[in-house]
Amino acid sequence: MSQLNAVSDAYKTLLDMVEKVEPRIAAATRQELTDQRASLKLIASENYASLPVLATMGTWLSDKYAEGTVGHRFYAGCQNVDTVESVAAEHARELFGAEYAYVQPHSGIDANVTAYWSILAHHVESPALEEFGARTVNDLSEADWETLRKRFGEQRLMGMSLDAGGHLTHGFRPNISGKMFHQRAYGTDPETQLLDYDVVAQQVREFKPLVLVAGYSAYPRRVNFAKMREIADEVGAVLMVDMAHFAGLVAGKVFTGDEDPVPHAHVVTTTTHKSLRGPRGGMILATKDYAADIDRGCPLVLGGPLSHVMAAKAVALAEARTEEFRTYAANVAANAKALAEGLLRRGVRLVTGGTDNHIVLMDVRDFGLTGRQAEAALLESGIVTNRNSVPNDPNGAWYTTGVRLGTPALTSRGFTTSDMDAVAEMIAGVLKSTKPTTTSKGEPSKAKYDLSDEARQHSLDEAERLLGQRPLYPGFDI
Ligand code: PLP
Repeated sequence: MSQLNAVSDAYKTLLDMVEKVEPRIAAATRQELTDQRASLKLIASENYASLPVLATMGTWLSDKYAEGTVGHRFYAGCQNVDTVESVAAEHARELFGAEYAYVQPHSGIDANVTAYWSILAHHVESPALEEFGARTVNDLSEADWETLRKRFGEQRLMGMSLDAGGHLTHGFRPNISGKMFHQRAYGTDPETQLLDYDVVAQQVREFKPLVLVAGYSAYPRRVNFAKMREIADEVGAVLMVDMAHFAGLVAGKVFTGDEDPVPHAHVVTTTTHKSLRGPRGGMILATKDYAADIDRGCPLVLGGPLSHVMAAKAVALAEARTEEFRTYAANVAANAKALAEGLLRRGVRLVTGGTDNHIVLMDVRDFGLTGRQAEAALLESGIVTNRNSVPNDPNGAWYTTGVRLGTPALTSRGFTTSDMDAVAEMIAGVLKSTKPTTTSKGEPSKAKYDLSDEARQHSLDEAERLLGQRPLYPGFDI
């Protein structure tokens, strides 16, 4: 029996046990594998974790409480969690060349909020504590806290605007970062849709933020972090890079030199589940100066560490050290380029005119569609994507004008550049065959559309053919 068949049998047995307790959960878990196998996953923030990573998450490490840090826990009996956290942090430091790594954040948002709090604590709180005659935050009275809150509120943060590709946690109101800080955003050039570092520098000089955030969720280009650091240094700002999306390309040495954030930023945050292909979670890397403040993340900002997930982070980081992972990361970028070129050849407009990372952002206005219509038509055709704003989006954040595509997941399945050309053909075919329906007022609908049966079926057949050639967890039958 092959190793994979044995693993498959083990999962089957475990799911049979789950079925006896709550059949709906066993069914949904099985169905999710069927669904993930059956469509082309082009969501730029998703991936397929390896079986060792998945298996590491499903253990009794989950049962242990371990608030605090390695060797300094608020619970007894944490020796194994100490090992897990130390190994994960060691891999993170070595892989990324960081002085310090904190592997506890439960998600990317948690990593960002912890990082912001730590930066505030490092730069604002310490002198303030002395003013209050306090040695630690625990010595502060309620009145002191109120004063501190006001002071924190007067701090400024600058990140990339949402429609240029920034993330909600980079200072926008629906996230606490937009409440902790006064915020202003930098955008991209109206013509080229690329970052213009001279313009960013000018905006930073005017606004003088405490924190300059670089990083993105939907910008299809590389960023020069050495330049961003120069810009931050000019006003004494802290450079924080959120590499949630492209951590795999940094780990896999596709982004090096000025494009590697770690040597240039004071603090780097990330998720571990996107291009890095680990478990769902977050992580913070920083210079040693910030270590003591970030270490207070739990319990100040975070709940008890998820020991099973930290263990899976260690496994994923160990995988990311390999030559195989470097090849994977290079293929992610090559596949994105091939996808972009295939779409451009077929007349699809792309934000910035292309890509040099893992993201391709289509602008679907030339098809008379909103992002929402394009996303839905592609989904029916076996292609999973997500709608996304484009710079100066005329349709707002709900309907949008863009559709974001990303190659980390399909590359994990083994898709090559010629497969990506076939995917581009499918996408362009569906978009060309989708037309908005007309509202009762005679205007084109922003949500409803007609897609020809023939185009849908052609795309579904092509998806089946391509997916059949690149099976997900082959031999796995649960
Ligand atoms: N930062 C960036 C740049 C992201 O794209 C995302 C997720 O989409 C996050 C942070 C948040 O990550 P999580 O969903 O793990 O909280």
